[in-house]
Amino acid sequence: MSFLAKLTSAFEQLLTTTDPAVVTAKQQRRVKNILWREWRHGNDPEYAQQLSGLVADVAPHQELRTQDRPLALEVETALRQACQLWPKTQDRWAAPLHLLDEQRRHLAGPDQLLADLHNPDWVKRFVARQTLLTLGGEAVPQLTRLATDKKSPLREVAIWLLRSIEAETTARLSAHFSRLLCPRCLVRFYANQVFVPGLPEFVYYGCRACGQGREFLEWTGDVVAVLDEKMETAYVEQEGVIRGNWLHYRSLFDCDWVEIIQATDEDVERFAVQVGNDTDPFRQPRYQDMRCLIGPACRLSENTVRILSRMFGQVALE
Ligand SMILES: [Zn+2]
Repeated sequence: MSFLAKLTSAFEQLLTTTDPAVVTAKQQRRVKNILWREWRHGNDPEYAQQLSGLVADVAPHQELRTQDRPLALEVETALRQACQLWPKTQDRWAAPLHLLDEQRRHLAGPDQLLADLHNPDWVKRFVARQTLLTLGGEAVPQLTRLATDKKSPLREVAIWLLRSIEAETTARLSAHFSRLLCPRCLVRFYANQVFVPGLPEFVYYGCRACGQGREFLEWTGDVVAVLDEKMETAYVEQEGVIRGNWLHYRSLFDCDWVEIIQATDEDVERFAVQVGNDTDPFRQPRYQDMRCLIGPACRLSENTVRILSRMFGQVALE
Protein backbone atom coordinates (compact mmCIF):
# COMPACT_ATOMS: atom_id res chain seq x y z
CA MET A 1 0.00 0.00 0.00
CA SER A 2 1.42 3.42 -0.96
CA PHE A 3 2.07 6.09 1.65
CA LEU A 4 -0.84 8.16 0.31
CA ALA A 5 -3.24 5.20 0.32
CA LYS A 6 -2.23 4.35 3.90
CA LEU A 7 -2.75 7.92 4.96
CA THR A 8 -6.13 8.26 3.29
CA SER A 9 -7.25 5.06 4.93
CA ALA A 10 -6.00 6.32 8.33
CA PHE A 11 -8.03 9.52 8.04
CA GLU A 12 -11.07 7.66 6.74
CA GLN A 13 -11.00 5.56 9.87
CA LEU A 14 -11.63 8.66 11.95
CA LEU A 15 -15.27 9.42 12.50
CA THR A 16 -17.34 11.26 9.96
CA THR A 17 -20.08 11.87 12.52
CA THR A 18 -19.96 12.44 16.26
CA ASP A 19 -23.64 11.92 16.97
CA PRO A 20 -23.42 9.39 19.84
CA ALA A 21 -26.59 7.69 18.56
CA VAL A 22 -24.87 6.94 15.25
CA VAL A 23 -21.30 6.33 16.29
CA THR A 24 -20.67 2.64 16.71
CA ALA A 25 -18.81 1.05 19.59
CA LYS A 26 -16.04 0.19 17.13
CA GLN A 27 -15.62 3.82 16.09
CA GLN A 28 -15.60 4.93 19.73
CA ARG A 29 -12.87 2.39 20.39
CA ARG A 30 -10.86 3.84 17.50
CA VAL A 31 -10.94 7.31 19.12
CA LYS A 32 -9.86 5.84 22.45
CA ASN A 33 -7.08 3.83 20.82
CA ILE A 34 -5.63 6.96 19.17
CA LEU A 35 -5.68 8.76 22.51
CA TRP A 36 -4.14 5.75 24.26
CA ARG A 37 -1.23 5.76 21.77
CA GLU A 38 -0.81 9.50 22.36
CA TRP A 39 -0.90 8.96 26.13
CA ARG A 40 1.76 6.24 25.82
CA HIS A 41 4.11 7.88 23.30
CA GLY A 42 3.52 11.62 23.80
CA ASN A 43 6.65 11.95 25.95
CA ASP A 44 5.13 14.74 28.09
CA PRO A 45 4.12 13.34 31.54
CA GLU A 46 1.88 16.23 32.59
CA TYR A 47 0.03 16.16 29.27
CA ALA A 48 -0.25 12.36 29.50
CA GLN A 49 -1.88 12.78 32.90
CA GLN A 50 -4.61 14.90 31.28
CA LEU A 51 -5.23 12.08 28.79
CA SER A 52 -5.12 9.29 31.36
CA GLY A 53 -8.76 9.63 32.45
CA LEU A 54 -9.89 9.23 28.84
CA VAL A 55 -7.94 6.06 28.22
CA ALA A 56 -8.20 4.36 31.62
CA ASP A 57 -10.64 1.77 30.25
CA VAL A 58 -8.57 0.86 27.19
CA ALA A 59 -7.35 -2.74 27.28
CA PRO A 60 -4.45 -2.55 24.83
CA HIS A 61 -4.25 -5.57 22.56
CA GLN A 62 -0.98 -6.70 21.03
CA GLU A 63 -1.44 -4.74 17.77
CA LEU A 64 -2.18 -1.50 19.60
CA ARG A 65 0.95 -1.93 21.70
CA THR A 66 3.10 -2.11 18.57
CA GLN A 67 1.71 1.06 16.98
CA ASP A 68 3.60 4.37 17.04
CA ARG A 69 2.48 7.77 18.24
CA PRO A 70 -0.54 8.95 16.21
CA LEU A 71 -0.01 11.94 13.93
CA ALA A 72 -0.79 15.41 15.27
CA LEU A 73 -3.95 15.81 13.19
CA GLU A 74 -5.26 12.41 14.31
CA VAL A 75 -4.71 13.38 17.96
CA GLU A 76 -6.55 16.66 17.61
CA THR A 77 -9.45 15.13 15.67
CA ALA A 78 -9.77 12.38 18.27
CA LEU A 79 -9.76 14.92 21.12
CA ARG A 80 -12.49 17.01 19.50
CA GLN A 81 -14.54 13.86 18.91
CA ALA A 82 -14.00 12.73 22.51
CA CYS A 83 -15.44 16.06 23.71
CA GLN A 84 -18.62 15.36 21.74
CA LEU A 85 -18.90 11.66 22.50
CA TRP A 86 -18.19 11.93 26.22
CA PRO A 87 -19.28 15.40 27.43
CA LYS A 88 -17.29 15.15 30.69
CA THR A 89 -14.16 15.30 28.52
CA GLN A 90 -14.96 18.94 27.89
CA ASP A 91 -14.20 19.83 31.52
CA ARG A 92 -10.52 19.26 30.80
CA TRP A 93 -10.19 19.69 27.04
CA ALA A 94 -12.61 22.41 25.92
CA ALA A 95 -10.35 25.24 27.16
CA PRO A 96 -7.10 23.94 25.58
CA LEU A 97 -8.89 23.31 22.26
CA HIS A 98 -10.41 26.80 22.40
CA LEU A 99 -6.97 28.30 23.05
CA LEU A 100 -5.66 26.33 20.07
CA ASP A 101 -8.39 27.81 17.84
CA GLU A 102 -7.42 31.29 19.08
CA GLN A 103 -3.72 30.67 18.46
CA ARG A 104 -4.52 29.60 14.89
CA ARG A 105 -6.36 32.85 14.25
CA HIS A 106 -3.28 34.83 15.32
CA LEU A 107 -0.45 32.58 14.22
CA ALA A 108 2.89 33.14 15.93
CA GLY A 109 6.16 32.49 14.10
CA PRO A 110 8.04 29.19 14.38
CA ASP A 111 10.64 30.53 16.85
CA GLN A 112 7.96 31.58 19.35
CA LEU A 113 6.14 28.26 19.00
CA LEU A 114 9.34 26.25 19.41
CA ALA A 115 10.11 28.25 22.56
CA ASP A 116 6.61 27.36 23.83
CA LEU A 117 7.46 23.65 23.56
CA HIS A 118 9.47 24.29 26.75
CA ASN A 119 6.70 26.24 28.47
CA PRO A 120 6.02 25.06 32.06
CA ASP A 121 2.27 25.05 31.29
CA TRP A 122 1.22 21.78 29.58
CA VAL A 123 -1.63 23.59 27.76
CA LYS A 124 0.86 25.96 26.10
CA ARG A 125 3.04 23.01 25.09
CA PHE A 126 0.05 21.16 23.61
CA VAL A 127 -1.14 24.27 21.74
CA ALA A 128 2.39 24.98 20.43
CA ARG A 129 2.75 21.44 19.04
CA GLN A 130 -0.59 21.59 17.25
CA THR A 131 0.04 25.13 15.97
CA LEU A 132 3.39 24.07 14.53
CA LEU A 133 1.40 21.53 12.51
CA THR A 134 -0.72 24.41 11.17
CA LEU A 135 2.37 26.43 10.34
CA GLY A 136 3.52 23.42 8.30
CA GLY A 137 6.30 24.10 5.81
CA GLU A 138 7.14 27.46 7.39
CA ALA A 139 8.36 25.59 10.49
CA VAL A 140 10.19 22.86 8.57
CA PRO A 141 13.69 24.47 8.49
CA GLN A 142 13.73 24.89 12.29
CA LEU A 143 12.20 21.43 12.87
CA THR A 144 14.78 19.87 10.53
CA ARG A 145 17.61 21.48 12.51
CA LEU A 146 16.18 20.07 15.76
CA ALA A 147 15.61 16.63 14.20
CA THR A 148 19.23 16.58 13.02
CA ASP A 149 20.63 17.51 16.46
CA LYS A 150 21.00 14.21 18.32
CA LYS A 151 21.58 16.07 21.60
CA SER A 152 18.40 18.16 21.41
CA PRO A 153 15.69 17.25 23.94
CA LEU A 154 13.18 18.29 21.26
CA ARG A 155 14.52 15.89 18.60
CA GLU A 156 11.72 13.31 18.98
CA VAL A 157 8.93 15.88 18.91
CA ALA A 158 10.55 17.58 15.90
CA ILE A 159 10.61 14.26 13.98
CA TRP A 160 6.99 13.60 14.95
CA LEU A 161 5.99 17.08 13.75
CA LEU A 162 7.84 16.60 10.45
CA ARG A 163 5.92 13.33 9.94
CA SER A 164 2.68 15.07 10.91
CA ILE A 165 3.29 17.97 8.49
CA GLU A 166 4.13 15.46 5.75
CA ALA A 167 0.85 13.61 6.37
CA GLU A 168 -1.33 16.71 6.69
CA THR A 169 -0.02 18.48 3.57
CA THR A 170 -0.06 15.21 1.57
CA ALA A 171 -3.71 14.57 2.43
CA ARG A 172 -4.73 18.18 1.69
CA LEU A 173 -2.54 19.21 -1.25
CA SER A 174 -0.87 16.30 -3.06
CA ALA A 175 -3.70 15.78 -5.57
CA HIS A 176 -3.61 19.34 -6.93
CA PHE A 177 -0.39 21.03 -5.77
CA SER A 178 0.87 21.60 -9.35
CA ARG A 179 -2.01 24.03 -9.94
CA LEU A 180 -1.19 26.18 -6.91
CA LEU A 181 0.83 29.38 -6.73
CA CYS A 182 2.03 31.09 -3.54
CA PRO A 183 0.72 34.69 -3.48
CA ARG A 184 3.52 35.73 -1.11
CA CYS A 185 6.30 34.67 -3.51
CA LEU A 186 4.55 33.94 -6.88
CA VAL A 187 6.32 30.59 -6.76
CA ARG A 188 4.58 27.30 -7.52
CA PHE A 189 3.77 24.65 -4.92
CA TYR A 190 5.97 21.59 -4.93
CA ALA A 191 6.63 18.27 -3.22
CA ASN A 192 9.49 19.59 -1.08
CA GLN A 193 12.00 17.01 0.19
CA VAL A 194 13.61 17.12 3.62
CA PHE A 195 16.64 15.06 4.53
CA VAL A 196 17.50 14.17 8.11
CA PRO A 197 20.55 11.91 8.48
CA GLY A 198 19.59 8.38 9.50
CA LEU A 199 15.88 8.77 8.71
CA PRO A 200 13.80 8.16 5.58
CA GLU A 201 13.27 11.41 3.65
CA PHE A 202 10.24 13.56 4.47
CA VAL A 203 8.11 15.18 1.78
CA TYR A 204 5.79 18.09 2.39
CA TYR A 205 3.66 20.09 -0.03
CA GLY A 206 3.86 23.87 -0.11
CA CYS A 207 5.52 26.84 -1.78
CA ARG A 208 8.92 25.94 -3.24
CA ALA A 209 10.36 29.19 -1.85
CA CYS A 210 8.79 29.91 1.56
CA GLY A 211 7.32 26.47 2.29
CA GLN A 212 3.92 27.73 3.41
CA GLY A 213 0.89 25.68 2.34
CA ARG A 214 -2.09 27.61 3.66
CA GLU A 215 -2.46 30.51 1.20
CA PHE A 216 -2.54 29.84 -2.51
CA LEU A 217 -3.92 30.94 -5.84
CA GLU A 218 -5.40 28.26 -8.11
CA TRP A 219 -3.46 29.22 -11.21
CA THR A 220 -2.32 27.24 -14.24
CA GLY A 221 -1.98 30.23 -16.59
CA ASP A 222 1.10 32.29 -17.41
CA VAL A 223 2.91 34.60 -14.99
CA VAL A 224 4.81 37.67 -16.24
CA ALA A 225 7.63 39.38 -14.37
CA VAL A 226 6.99 43.11 -14.73
CA LEU A 227 9.42 45.93 -13.93
CA ASP A 228 7.32 49.08 -13.86
CA GLU A 229 7.79 51.92 -11.38
CA LYS A 230 4.14 52.88 -11.81
CA MET A 231 2.79 49.47 -10.76
CA GLU A 232 1.46 49.73 -7.21
CA THR A 233 0.28 46.25 -6.31
CA ALA A 234 2.36 43.10 -5.74
CA TYR A 235 0.57 41.36 -8.58
CA VAL A 236 -2.52 41.74 -10.70
CA GLU A 237 -4.52 39.33 -12.85
CA GLN A 238 -5.04 40.91 -16.25
CA GLU A 239 -6.22 39.43 -19.55
CA GLY A 240 -5.61 35.86 -18.46
CA VAL A 241 -2.12 36.34 -17.05
CA ILE A 242 -0.77 37.19 -13.62
CA ARG A 243 1.50 40.21 -13.81
CA GLY A 244 3.95 40.08 -10.90
CA ASN A 245 5.70 43.25 -9.77
CA TRP A 246 9.44 42.45 -9.41
CA LEU A 247 10.07 45.92 -7.96
CA HIS A 248 7.73 44.89 -5.12
CA TYR A 249 9.14 41.39 -4.48
CA ARG A 250 12.79 42.28 -5.29
CA SER A 251 13.38 38.55 -5.68
CA LEU A 252 12.79 36.12 -8.53
CA PHE A 253 9.52 34.27 -9.01
CA ASP A 254 8.21 31.69 -11.48
CA CYS A 255 7.58 33.65 -14.67
CA ASP A 256 6.96 32.76 -18.31
CA TRP A 257 8.27 36.00 -19.76
CA VAL A 258 9.53 39.44 -18.66
CA GLU A 259 8.24 42.93 -19.43
CA ILE A 260 10.34 45.98 -18.57
CA ILE A 261 7.92 48.90 -18.80
CA GLN A 262 9.69 51.57 -16.79
CA ALA A 263 12.71 50.97 -14.59
CA THR A 264 16.17 52.36 -13.97
CA ASP A 265 19.33 50.75 -15.35
CA GLU A 266 20.32 49.99 -11.77
CA ASP A 267 17.11 48.04 -11.01
CA VAL A 268 17.21 46.16 -14.31
CA GLU A 269 20.85 45.19 -13.72
CA ARG A 270 19.98 43.98 -10.20
CA PHE A 271 17.17 41.88 -11.67
CA ALA A 272 19.53 40.52 -14.38
CA VAL A 273 22.17 39.59 -11.76
CA GLN A 274 19.51 37.59 -9.86
CA VAL A 275 18.57 35.79 -13.08
CA GLY A 276 22.24 35.07 -13.83
CA ASN A 277 22.79 33.64 -10.34
CA ASP A 278 19.49 31.72 -10.16
CA THR A 279 20.14 28.07 -9.33
CA ASP A 280 16.46 27.10 -8.98
CA PRO A 281 16.10 23.83 -10.95
CA PHE A 282 12.59 24.77 -12.19
CA ARG A 283 13.45 28.28 -13.42
CA GLN A 284 17.11 28.11 -14.42
CA PRO A 285 16.73 26.11 -17.68
CA ARG A 286 13.80 28.26 -18.83
CA TYR A 287 15.65 31.58 -19.17
CA GLN A 288 17.48 30.57 -22.36
CA ASP A 289 14.12 30.33 -24.22
CA MET A 290 12.38 33.22 -22.43
CA ARG A 291 11.21 36.48 -23.97
CA CYS A 292 12.13 39.81 -22.40
CA LEU A 293 10.17 42.77 -23.79
CA ILE A 294 11.37 46.35 -23.22
CA GLY A 295 8.65 49.01 -23.47
CA PRO A 296 9.03 52.22 -25.52
CA ALA A 297 9.00 54.45 -22.42
CA CYS A 298 11.99 52.65 -20.92
CA ARG A 299 15.32 54.24 -21.83
CA LEU A 300 17.89 51.64 -20.90
CA SER A 301 21.59 52.00 -21.63
CA GLU A 302 23.13 49.81 -24.33
CA ASN A 303 25.12 48.02 -21.67
CA THR A 304 21.95 47.05 -19.72
CA VAL A 305 20.29 45.76 -22.90
CA ARG A 306 23.44 43.74 -23.65
CA ILE A 307 23.29 42.19 -20.16
CA LEU A 308 19.64 41.25 -20.71
CA SER A 309 20.53 39.69 -24.08
CA ARG A 310 22.98 37.40 -22.30
CA MET A 311 20.32 36.29 -19.78
CA PHE A 312 17.27 35.70 -21.97
CA GLY A 313 16.66 33.84 -25.23
CA GLN A 314 15.01 36.80 -26.88
CA VAL A 315 15.12 40.53 -26.02
CA ALA A 316 12.77 42.76 -27.97
CA LEU A 317 12.45 46.56 -27.92
CA GLU A 318 8.79 47.40 -28.46
ZN1 LIG B 1 5.85 31.35 -0.89
